[in-house]
Amino acid sequence: MIVRKNQAELEKMRAAGLLVYQVLDTLKKMVAEGVSTLDLEMTAEKMIVAAGARPAFKGYANPQAGSKFPYVLCVSVNDEIVHGMPSEKKILKRGDIVSLDTGVQLNGYYGDSAVTVAVGEITPEAQRLLDVTRESLELAIEKVRPGNRLFDICGTVEQHVIANGFTVVREFVGHGIGTQMHEEPQIPNYVDRRNENPRLKEGMVLAIEPMVNAGAAGSRVKADKWTAVTEDGKYSAHFEHTVAVTANGPWVLTRP
Ligand code: MG
Ligand code: MG
Repeated sequence: MIVRKNQAELEKMRAAGLLVYQVLDTLKKMVAEGVSTLDLEMTAEKMIVAAGARPAFKGYANPQAGSKFPYVLCVSVNDEIVHGMPSEKKILKRGDIVSLDTGVQLNGYYGDSAVTVAVGEITPEAQRLLDVTRESLELAIEKVRPGNRLFDICGTVEQHVIANGFTVVREFVGHGIGTQMHEEPQIPNYVDRRNENPRLKEGMVLAIEPMVNAGAAGSRVKADKWTAVTEDGKYSAHFEHTVAVTANGPWVLTRP
């Protein structure tokens, strides 16, 4: 069942969403050559705790990993798709691309967002990967309107990515969000006709998150049981927003 939220609930989700935005905005500005991914983690945790929120990712149990995620931030560099772990040994260098993904729970409601940023100068192809992935999210957000269907979102991402010669990751998907970080429906970045195709209704809140590979679509999970990487070692980008369906169209809760 897809849980719909009333106006008061959406306002709470807005507060959670804005906190996630502030954290990611701060981290984006920190990203530079020589910074460790653990530096980013520590700043994120400080900001979330100072705001009176709970880091949603820390302690998140993944049955496939058989463990709890130990950090507040997923930081995925270059060929890492999602769920990369911060480390003091992982030092950013010029030419890297870095996905920053975090979530918070504030007053009972979750917000979840991700952005991929460049470290210094990157190749034109890497820049195009970032642009196309961000565009695919923006085009999908435009579909978040009452009366449209879930496949309008999935298909919009898929078509934009394929038209630009990249591929969508199939093993990881977006999701409904509310009092749980992961609610129904699942939101693949392609049309999966095995799934239902519900009509979008006012009050639904969706975390849409294209994960786009520069090369082949294949992914694998590393020995740490969390970090997903591309099979071919090529770059992958990830953008995400938490978006509410309203009578007036999409309300992106994770940006001002
Ligand atoms: Mg998410
Ligand atoms: Mg996320």
